[in-house]
Amino acid sequence: MATTSSERKLLVGGNWVETGSWIEVTSPYDGAVVGRVPEAGADETRRALGAAEKAMLDPRPAHERAAILDRVADALADRHDEVARTISAEAGKPMKAARVEASRAVSTYTMAAVEARKLAGDVVPMDASPAGVGKLALTLRQPIGVVGAISPFNFPLNLVAHKIAPALAAGCAVVLKPASTTPLSALLLAELETEAGLPAGWLNVVCGPASEIGDVLVEDERVKLITFTGSVPIGWKLRERAPRKRVNLELGNATPVVVAADADLDDAAGRLAANAFSFAGQSCISVQRIYVERSAYDGFLERFLPHVEALKVGDPADEETDVGPVISDSERDRILSWIEEARAAGARILTGGTIENGLLEPTVVAEPPPDAKVACEEVFGPVCTVSPVGSLDEGIALANSTRFGLQAGVFTRDVSSALRAARELEFGGVTVNEAPTFRADQMPYGGVKDSGNTREGPAYAVREMTEERLVVLQL
Ligand code: NAP
Repeated sequence: MATTSSERKLLVGGNWVETGSWIEVTSPYDGAVVGRVPEAGADETRRALGAAEKAMLDPRPAHERAAILDRVADALADRHDEVARTISAEAGKPMKAARVEASRAVSTYTMAAVEARKLAGDVVPMDASPAGVGKLALTLRQPIGVVGAISPFNFPLNLVAHKIAPALAAGCAVVLKPASTTPLSALLLAELETEAGLPAGWLNVVCGPASEIGDVLVEDERVKLITFTGSVPIGWKLRERAPRKRVNLELGNATPVVVAADADLDDAAGRLAANAFSFAGQSCISVQRIYVERSAYDGFLERFLPHVEALKVGDPADEETDVGPVISDSERDRILSWIEEARAAGARILTGGTIENGLLEPTVVAEPPPDAKVACEEVFGPVCTVSPVGSLDEGIALANSTRFGLQAGVFTRDVSSALRAARELEFGGVTVNEAPTFRADQMPYGGVKDSGNTREGPAYAVREMTEERLVVLQL
């Protein structure tokens, strides 16, 4: 299906700028050029930081910031079709999933507007100690300063929204570097922010070589907080290199689910099939490792495989498509080599495992050895594993046997099993009778272990993007 090519400029200090060289954005589905954006480097990034710093010299009141955020939410809803098509074209995301992402961004902005309106400090109970008697103390929540934001390709709109909307709510100006493969949605969002009345300098968007722009964000003292969503090694390296800044990391996962013998297998099978393969598994919480109590294993597979085989693989622009391409041919080949590695190590491929019309088929790998990459690394592709386990405890132990800790799930009808799993699964979030791919935008979302060190969701991100200032009054 034809996609329209669009050209967008960078946003620096309220101006839409070109740089003389361009990055072409191509469709991961058919390689067609879907747009182009100017390529920036260290100079533009420093200029953007200057604009951001200058903007913050004129702080805008909360009601004004909230009204802008509300207007962006309205614009996202009004221009839903264009927004979803932009996501789909540049990321190769099926329209079904692109529409969900576009709608979620409305909710991210709406929640951020709420947070802008209720941003407040605390009153400290001073007479709780003898030293405080006769004093009144309160805290003010001050914006931390200029935020450097770096976002990944897989949610090119809503994960940008999760950075720039809370930053504005907190009163921080931003310099954003979106993923080079998917900059168009971010620049469309920037256009909506400017049309909503955002004054110059509060949002700046630069695209270009990641390490050059990243180096400026790490080294420049004007950046007080870096918010990064992306892969594990790059994220932790950034944090290591910027010890004096707050560096908030939202990283990867190898998402596990434990299905207990008493679970509703029809429900679990449907939810897990949809959430292992949506956007070809390229979500940080895509269902990857499924552990099923042995007595329910065959029954689960009987229900699960037909759901997987019914998924429609094809053109992401087609409203009926469930599974489209992965982001690049090299990623497709890497994922295929991981499937082959598991097969060679004795795993059975229950469905998929091949490339049809250039697209990787949804693939279910049964009982891979624990050291096969599909069983222990983040696949980030349309692949999940299934393995029988002797007990809920064994399932929880296997789910935990990873360096990742973003979200995990358990399916059971037993409340005490559910609560035990929730306590014992070492992850930032645990879903019960829902796929761990579930996220609503107001949730505190983030990981432990290698998966990150923060929580996103406007209320939590605003907390990270502000500093508490104590004020003590002698009465
Ligand atoms: P990535 O390769 O790590 O890239 C993420 C961003 O970092 C891109 O903007 C990239 O720019 C930039 N980058 C690359 N090298 C850099 C450097 N040296 N300094 C500064 N920035 C640098 O990740 P991705 O492939 O786009 O996204 C997939 C990963 O993100 C997966 O691991 C997934 O699990 C994770 N993820 C996590 C969450 C979460 O909320 N926890 C959500 C979504 C995705 P270029 O595009 O220019 O290379």
